[in-house]
Amino acid sequence: PLTHSDAFHDPKIARHLADRIAGASRRPVRFMEVCGTHTVSIFRSGIRSLLPETISLLSGPGCPVCVTAQKEIDAFISLAREPDTIVATFGDLIRVPGSGSSLQREKADGADVRIVYSTFDAVTLARENPGQRVVFLGVGFETTAPTVAAAIVTAHQQGLDNFFVVSAHKIVPPALEALAGGVINIDGFLLPGHVSVIIGLDAYRPFFDHHRVPCVVAGFEPTDLLSSIAMLVDQVESGRPALENAYTRAVSSAGNPKAMAVMREVFAVADADWRGIGTIAASGLVIREKYAALDAVKVFDMHLRPVPEPKGCACGEILTGMKIPPQCPLYKTVCNPMAPVGPCMVSSEGTCAAYYRYHGDG
Ligand code: SF4
Repeated sequence: PLTHSDAFHDPKIARHLADRIAGASRRPVRFMEVCGTHTVSIFRSGIRSLLPETISLLSGPGCPVCVTAQKEIDAFISLAREPDTIVATFGDLIRVPGSGSSLQREKADGADVRIVYSTFDAVTLARENPGQRVVFLGVGFETTAPTVAAAIVTAHQQGLDNFFVVSAHKIVPPALEALAGGVINIDGFLLPGHVSVIIGLDAYRPFFDHHRVPCVVAGFEPTDLLSSIAMLVDQVESGRPALENAYTRAVSSAGNPKAMAVMREVFAVADADWRGIGTIAASGLVIREKYAALDAVKVFDMHLRPVPEPKGCACGEILTGMKIPPQCPLYKTVCNPMAPVGPCMVSSEGTCAAYYRYHGDG
């Protein structure tokens, strides 16, 4: 019998959807997948090769490590040099090159940098190391921010005085605003699945009402993505843009109210700098005054000064759909997953890494 999961991978269903897209798509369009997990899923499943030439898929700014500004990466590295300090981070971040070093290099030189799989692991680390200050590097979108917020509340309630968080979290809808008002004409957005589980479909309504550009929240399996692309094509060809949800088995209109509540309890919205895009108003999350004792930016008096991005790296243009990795002169010549120049080649969700791994140069 066909299982739930088989159906989402069924080549016959995928072929049928691809044929439907090819039959319906008349004019050239550019769709952007905003989420890094979509990017990887699209490459891994070979969906691009199933699509007609009329459809170009652009990868957007949905890889959290990739959009983290260079000045933040440098600030993380400075934290690792602090005495009696353990820096706890998710894995991808440690290999991202800063201006003169990386967390990995600092670790090799003796800094205490630990990879954790959840923010709560970092809380445990703080409890087990009372003589050390544990700083968790908070990078991610609405998907991760609620868990980080919950860890901050727990540490606060337990009176832990050696657990801190740097919040470099970002939120997605304001980035869509920046992209839709940018230089690249985008005919439709594949909206992120995991982020939408938290914020819900309605969170995109103001953006949609403002720009009237086709939008579909998509799941991650091949047939999820193809049916979402088919919905975008239908919207474009009919001239009736809409905000639709193709991932109803996980995403509701209102999202996850508990996750949103803890996020609002701990974080306030503030302007944030995105690699490649610059400052986007009200697109970041900073720790509220109530939790200031856990805010590493305040406690460590972190100064985030603008620093140039790696020389020759086109990550910024790639994150905004202006270039694809083979158009970067460093792609494969100097920059590869073993020796990444920019974060888009480091992160498992990065577009350059996905191209390198799955696609060759096409
Ligand atoms: Fe940056 Fe490397 Fe990607 Fe070029 S290939 S944009 S240098 S990460």
